[in-house]
Amino acid sequence: MSESGGHVLSFPHMGNYHVPMVTLASMLDTEILVAPRMTRRTLELGTRYSPEFVCIPFKYNLGNFIESLESGANLLVQAGGGCRFGFYAEVQEAILRDSGYEFEMLRLFGSFELRDYHRQLRRINPKLTFRRALWHYRLASRQTNALDVVEDYSRKNCGFEVEDGAFERAFEAFLGKLGRTQSFAEVDTLERETLEELAAIPTERPDDALKVGVVGELYVVMEPFSNFFVEKELAKRGVEVHRHMSVSEMIAHSGRNGPKHLRKLIEMSGPYLHYHIGAHGTESVGLARQFMQDGFDGVLHLKPFGCMPEVNAMTALQRMSRENLFPILFFSYDAQSSETGVRTRLEAFCDMLRMRRRRDPGLAEAMEVCA
Ligand code: SF4
Repeated sequence: MSESGGHVLSFPHMGNYHVPMVTLASMLDTEILVAPRMTRRTLELGTRYSPEFVCIPFKYNLGNFIESLESGANLLVQAGGGCRFGFYAEVQEAILRDSGYEFEMLRLFGSFELRDYHRQLRRINPKLTFRRALWHYRLASRQTNALDVVEDYSRKNCGFEVEDGAFERAFEAFLGKLGRTQSFAEVDTLERETLEELAAIPTERPDDALKVGVVGELYVVMEPFSNFFVEKELAKRGVEVHRHMSVSEMIAHSGRNGPKHLRKLIEMSGPYLHYHIGAHGTESVGLARQFMQDGFDGVLHLKPFGCMPEVNAMTALQRMSRENLFPILFFSYDAQSSETGVRTRLEAFCDMLRMRRRRDPGLAEAMEVCA
């Protein structure tokens, strides 16, 4: 309990989604503590207390929880889903209790059915009406959507800014304002004004700018700290970066829309996949093929070490890359991954993409080396 005797709620980080998460969590009328910013210490703490071979999002989440508990949180929220994610909450709760922490755990499981979640949330706030829960959910979803739209624009354009850091400054200002929006109209206005502001930032884009798509496991794709900021690193090398994965996309394809979306992804995968391979593996193959057909120069595939759905996807992606001489760079992250190693491989990858543009006869050999 906090000094006031109430709950202090916290949740793990993933990209900038803590902003809509605060809007969502405020329906519980508890104090909200955003976990301290991710640092190497977050991963070290998570790694120290985790089973060695568990996937890295588990370790980051656990590190976030420990840092939040140290800062005064006493109510932790964890979601769950297919694959190992379904066991995160239970195992993390057991580890933290064994380590001597006292707290409550709110495990949110369900199929994105609001009625289900409402029942679970009333355990913390018995006065929570469905109508109020719905309002918070809708506002948080709208904020999420604005965040994704603005991030998408920045990702595609920041590599060509004339003044270093111009996009980042505008984005940070947007993020601060987004957290203060209280209505749909305010989010609409903020999104429109921010996009106008970003469009007015001077850029110099060469006609032959490289275009790269990013696919992979949702956490390492959407949490830049965990992937060593690969999108920013690509942008620094003058690359236009595209990715479809975002929380807005996940919401849009959840619940009843899920099976239809999966069928579409399998169709998009063409000869490389004939059935669903779990979590976002099918998405990785379908979207990578889409990027290839859309004339992109290459694809980055990001995954945590030992993530089975993405290991499955890799076999299909490697075949796609080989048969089409289409460069795909694979990154597998664990607690020992080195930032320098990631940067060096990215540098080599960009050189290889330029070779492909020049139709360099040494491309096939370079792809073997880079794989
Ligand atoms: S998708 Fe992969 S990394 Fe993510 S929880 Fe599942 S197994 Fe772990």
